[in-house]
Amino acid sequence: MNEPLHPLLRRQLRGVGLDDAGAPAAAPWQALLELVSGAYAALDQHRYQLEHSQELASAEMADLYAALQAERDRLESRVRERTQALQLSQARLASLVSMSSDWIWEQDAELRFTYISEGARNATGIDVATLIGRKRVAMEDFDAPPDQVAQHVAQLEARQPFRDFVYGIRGPEGRQCYIRVSGEPLFDADGVFIGYRGVGSDETKATLAARHLQQLASFDSLTGMPNRNMFIAELDLALARARRNGGSFALCFMDLDRFKTINDSLGHAAGDVLLTTVGARLRDLLRESDLVARLGGDEFVALLEGPADAAALSAVARKMLAAVSEPVALDGRKLWITGSCGIARYPADGADAETLLKNADAAMYQAKAEGKDTFRFYTAELAAQSAHLFALEADLRHAVERGELVLHFQPKIDLATGRLRGVEALVRWQHPTRGLLAPGEFIGLAEDSGLIVPIGGWVMQAACCQVRAWMDTGLAAPRCAVNLSARQFGSESLLDDVRRSLQHSGLPADALEIEITESVLMSDPDRANLTLQALHALGVHISIDDFGTGYSSLAYLKRLPAHTVKLDRSFVAGLPADRDDAAITQAVIALSHSLAMQVVAEGVETDAQLDFLRRAGCDQAQGYLIGRPMPAEQLAQRLQPLREHLSQAA
Ligand code: C2E
Ligand code: MG
Ligand code: MG
Repeated sequence: MNEPLHPLLRRQLRGVGLDDAGAPAAAPWQALLELVSGAYAALDQHRYQLEHSQELASAEMADLYAALQAERDRLESRVRERTQALQLSQARLASLVSMSSDWIWEQDAELRFTYISEGARNATGIDVATLIGRKRVAMEDFDAPPDQVAQHVAQLEARQPFRDFVYGIRGPEGRQCYIRVSGEPLFDADGVFIGYRGVGSDETKATLAARHLQQLASFDSLTGMPNRNMFIAELDLALARARRNGGSFALCFMDLDRFKTINDSLGHAAGDVLLTTVGARLRDLLRESDLVARLGGDEFVALLEGPADAAALSAVARKMLAAVSEPVALDGRKLWITGSCGIARYPADGADAETLLKNADAAMYQAKAEGKDTFRFYTAELAAQSAHLFALEADLRHAVERGELVLHFQPKIDLATGRLRGVEALVRWQHPTRGLLAPGEFIGLAEDSGLIVPIGGWVMQAACCQVRAWMDTGLAAPRCAVNLSARQFGSESLLDDVRRSLQHSGLPADALEIEITESVLMSDPDRANLTLQALHALGVHISIDDFGTGYSSLAYLKRLPAHTVKLDRSFVAGLPADRDDAAITQAVIALSHSLAMQVVAEGVETDAQLDFLRRAGCDQAQGYLIGRPMPAEQLAQRLQPLREHLSQAA
């Protein structure tokens, strides 16, 4: 026997009374036993293998399951964390959105609002529910400049993000609101456009403030017309257009005649009504394409585009003048005013804005000089005149430093005693080629160019020094009057200049007199009054020059701290025959005396005038009869003969 029999087979053999020993020894039997035993052993082996592999598999499964469980736990905790974080950030966003004055909006692919956060209502008062389902740009009250809208719509169509688009809509009760929006396009997972989302904020205050500023910068607040800034900008555009196309246009410059007088005598409110009315008439009169602006004060200017021959322009100017001279109703009465126009044409009369305006202005002055209520074209003659003035101005620039200015002195006498009471310093310009020029030929120029400041300073200084010099030679020096022009009178440095001249010369303030014309005082009465008070406090004397021509009100005169009124020589000229002049002279004397002011009559040329004035109670006189303006040495010499002349006349 080779292999021991399988134990199960041995047990089975024993069970039937056969054991290994008792087993039939026959070879076939033996073979059968071996075969059966082998089959059992193979079965055992197979089962063992099966059991082993089952064992292995279940251990693996357990491992796998454990790993899965760990992974699930990990995922669950991450989801928990993420959810918390998300909830936190949502809460944060919600609280920010609710606290912010801004809001969030969303639109669908058709750009209809699907969501607008409450901030919109808080900021603008608009019920957001009414906006859902509507398109921003298509709302009836949507308002934005067309070019900006076009650009915005193009961005939307290109599905691009946009920033800071500002538009207007009507809020509750029709209140105008402005809104600033920024947005980004939204796309789904497949990249298909599904709408826009963005933020909005209330821009009303900022926009209104910006508009107001723009309005202030470009428009005149009184008449609502374009102002100088805007006019110059438009004029530059017109010039550029005309240069490009070889076109032409004209400027018609209008200034109201005697506006200042009306303004001063009837008050600023009346002046404002007048300016507003004239502005509205000019606007109504001109074509839509013509620009008419208020340059300031009582100056208006129209820019008339297109080819314009002299006849057509004359017709426009005539129409403008006619519109202005229609009476203006004011507080139940009628007011008449006229204007003067000057016309300058591009390209004939100037190539740039400044020249054109200057030339139109020069032509306007010509119209005024030729009697007002009329118009003039800028001409070559005017050009020559302005070239002359230009050259004169260039010379005037050096007049002070070259010592070309001289003072002449004109005496003023006391009518009761005939004694010299004072002198008036009158400037002359010893021009190197043109001879001795009177102030009428250069004071206006000095005013316009600002040269009056150094010239006036020189006059004041020279006058003070001259009087001081007379005193120093033992003469009883008279009080000396100095004329102040408008520009000097308005200058910040006036008081300092006066103080310095007195100090430098050592002249007592009492020996200096300041003459200011009534019209200068009336151009800004309140300010003038303050300046006069300051001068008065310095101790200098104050005279109102050319009195009777400036339309002051009596109430105003009463408030002025002036010592003397100088009756204008136009009234003196008619004495004694002209009854109006005589009456005015007597009234001015009575009025001045009632206000404790002295009266000086200007321009006394005849004995009859002197006689009338003395009898009317006038205090002093000045004029060719008493003495022409003369150089300082001559005045010093003539003190004695002057007294004799008057004692003879008396
Ligand atoms: P005003 O202050 O009224 O000076 C009087 C002017 O009348 C002077 O002319 C004088 O020569 C002139 N005049 C005097 N008596 C008679 C007369 O009997 N008959 C006539 N027909 N005229 C007479 P002037 O010197 O040509 O000065 C003219 C104006 O120029 C002055 O008028 C004054 O407003 C201004 N002016 C003169 N000097 C100065 C100055 O230094 N500074 C400033 N800012 N203005 C001055
Ligand atoms: Mg004077
Ligand atoms: Mg005068």
